[in-house]
Amino acid sequence: MPELPEVQTTVDGINKTVQGLQIVDVWTNYDSPHYANKEEIKNPLFFKKFKKIVIGAKIKNASRKAKNILIELSNDYTILIHMKMTGHVMYGKYVFDPKGKSAGSRKGTEKDPWVSTEEGPLTDPFNRHIRLVFTLRDSKRLDKHLVLSDMRKFAKVTVLETDTIHQSSHLDTVGPDPLSTEFTYSLFEGRILSRPNGKIKTVLMDQTVIAGVGNIYSDEALWRASIHPEHMPKDIPKSLLQKLRTSVIEVLRQGIDFGGDSMSDYRNINGERGEFQLKHQEYRRTGKLCEKIGCKGIIQRKVICGRSAHFCSEHQKLAL
Ligand SMILES: [Zn+2]
Repeated sequence: MPELPEVQTTVDGINKTVQGLQIVDVWTNYDSPHYANKEEIKNPLFFKKFKKIVIGAKIKNASRKAKNILIELSNDYTILIHMKMTGHVMYGKYVFDPKGKSAGSRKGTEKDPWVSTEEGPLTDPFNRHIRLVFTLRDSKRLDKHLVLSDMRKFAKVTVLETDTIHQSSHLDTVGPDPLSTEFTYSLFEGRILSRPNGKIKTVLMDQTVIAGVGNIYSDEALWRASIHPEHMPKDIPKSLLQKLRTSVIEVLRQGIDFGGDSMSDYRNINGERGEFQLKHQEYRRTGKLCEKIGCKGIIQRKVICGRSAHFCSEHQKLAL
């Protein structure tokens, strides 16, 4: 699942490519009966409203709140996209071709009728599950497309008034952002100790405690701070909690520097892979030697609260 660095990489990509462009059409095949009364585009009735709001508006800029992408429009509305498990946003030239007769490098199907006409990463198999398409027009009246590929269809897309979006139920419970200036040690300690008897990995991943950290970056931050993922916050010495805060910030910044993590199917705005997966010191390195200098431990894997945790058998021991 995309975490803070992947979402930030996409937000930066949106700002570099589509600022100022006008939305002239929008299409989706997300419709699902399970969303009948929800204010999300998977509800066909809501999608009609969504279309009315966004068509004609220009894209002002994109920003990030926790793992949500916020695309601010010129008409005082903001589109909110949460990529969830397999979603990623891309920009390129596409054609709609339900019968597969296009000049695209892949035959369209009724299920995935949008195909890229550009050779290159947009035709990567992970990029072909196009569920949402914004047709964007520039000042020369040339159209290109901002699309959402989402193999497993878990992404969330809606539109809200810009003024009130942060008070909406989508965002009002998210914790502080680790890359913001407000993320001081005392704030971090207070948030973590609000779950004194939890397991530190689960607490770190709780979006209401702090925002943006998921499975990969929690593993990497705990490895750096030499903390076992099941350690209870109330038992972690202050010196290690201080180290953990620094480690969280460092791994997230490194994730952004490397263009996000594409061990799973995350891709950037051009459909390209990030490179943070090449830098993992423990995530999905089960059975391998620990890379910490002087440590002879082996990376272990254990399921904690339904998620895989990876940790070193030697320098991340549960008992101190
Ligand atoms: Zn180790």
